Amino acid sequence: MALIVHKYGGTSMGSTERIRGVAKRVAKWARAGHQMIVVPSAMSGETNRLLALAKDVSPAQQTAAMLRELDMIACTGEQVSVGLLSLALQAEGMQAVSYTGWQVPVRTDSAYTKARIQSIDDARVRADLAAGRVVVITGFQGVDEDNNVTTLGRGGSDTSAVAVAAALKADECLIYTDVDGVYTTDPRIVPEAKRLHSISFEEMLEMASLGSKVLQIRSVEFAGKYRVPLRVLSSFTPWDIDITEEAASGTLITFEEDEKMEQAVVSGIAFNRDEAKVTVLGVPDKPGIAYSILGQVAEANIDVDVIIQNVSHDGKTDFSFTVHRNDYQRTLDLLKTKVLPATGAAEVLGDAKICKVSIVGIGMRSHAGVASTMFRALSEEGINIQMITTSEIKTSVVIDEKYMELAVRALHKAFDLDASIEPTAESAD
Ligand code: ADP
Ligand code: ASP
Ligand code: MG
Repeated sequence: MALIVHKYGGTSMGSTERIRGVAKRVAKWARAGHQMIVVPSAMSGETNRLLALAKDVSPAQQTAAMLRELDMIACTGEQVSVGLLSLALQAEGMQAVSYTGWQVPVRTDSAYTKARIQSIDDARVRADLAAGRVVVITGFQGVDEDNNVTTLGRGGSDTSAVAVAAALKADECLIYTDVDGVYTTDPRIVPEAKRLHSISFEEMLEMASLGSKVLQIRSVEFAGKYRVPLRVLSSFTPWDIDITEEAASGTLITFEEDEKMEQAVVSGIAFNRDEAKVTVLGVPDKPGIAYSILGQVAEANIDVDVIIQNVSHDGKTDFSFTVHRNDYQRTLDLLKTKVLPATGAAEVLGDAKICKVSIVGIGMRSHAGVASTMFRALSEEGINIQMITTSEIKTSVVIDEKYMELAVRALHKAFDLDASIEPTAESAD
């Protein structure tokens, strides 16, 4: 008997019919002798609908007091889901009980709309499991030490599931979604993308942080920290497929680097449309200038991603960096009102129509020339690179947003990702 956590995303919970299908699948696992915890998301579109209601009532820029209320509103989608799923499980003849984040409780910090899980009390859940119940816990939500409801950021149910799996020391956490695993890139952008049989934890971490929304980055961080065995698989297979076949399907996130992985130079391509670029022109080039610009930005709690400082001319230089698009206007305002007068810079420019495209692969550690292959592929498509940033296992470029799909497709081809797929169990025989 194993302790298994299943997570079902919004599309998988998208209608009462789908919820009944989820219940049948979970019941199959429970009847096979496993202790089951299920973490569902809100039904598809529900979180967007709730947040749109909030925006309708209060379109102003978000204050701290408003963020608390946004969480109060957004978390309700998951509460409906757990109730419905628990009912559907009972209709399947299972004993099932649902809990919200505060009932468990799932303790978080107080950073509304992007809270971090700090601890999970396992006592109540363990008692239910011991009594033979399937436990259904809300994704996405938690509670801070003052009993305020919090949410974990968009896509946060992945993190809830992995954190619950870590706290309960589950044998495996299965993330059921609307694709059948992790692909070389988003299959909605590149139809030729191929499913990876396995991906290393480090690569998955990079893919998630660089924009692949198949797993929320914090869920991957949790899986790494607590060594939670994690698999991404489809909720669209028939619920009654053979359980052994199902358990081996999808993509496994591995913690060991095997030989096959070493061979793939680039494993995947990620992209992110959520950033915007700002440039401070004509900054006097002297020690402390980066600090005088970015120090102010950090103080305003704005995260900075790619940074470029140009070579100076006549003692002046240009300084560019990217921020999340939600922080774009705030950053521009801050630069104009505070940084310009303080530094004596000439002008502030902004561009919200950019995107970041990245190649990821642990094989990049041991292969030279990977970045130049990337730059050649982009230049052959006439795509201008605005910024470049590299680390051991990734290279990212910032380009004009309108070329994003073209760039992703060109890179997918340039790195032979259609062909570099590891043989799967199905194709091997
Ligand atoms: P869920 O609602 O189940 O959490 P998400 O929409 O959050 O599902 O994540 C699944 C989606 O992630 C897929 O439909 C796919 O479009 C997208 N995606 C982005 N990059 C990848 C990738 N490399 N592999 C698979 N899916 C990806
Ligand atoms: N329902 C939340 C969202 O739409 C959390 C999730 O789906 O993971 O972002
Ligand atoms: Mg998701």
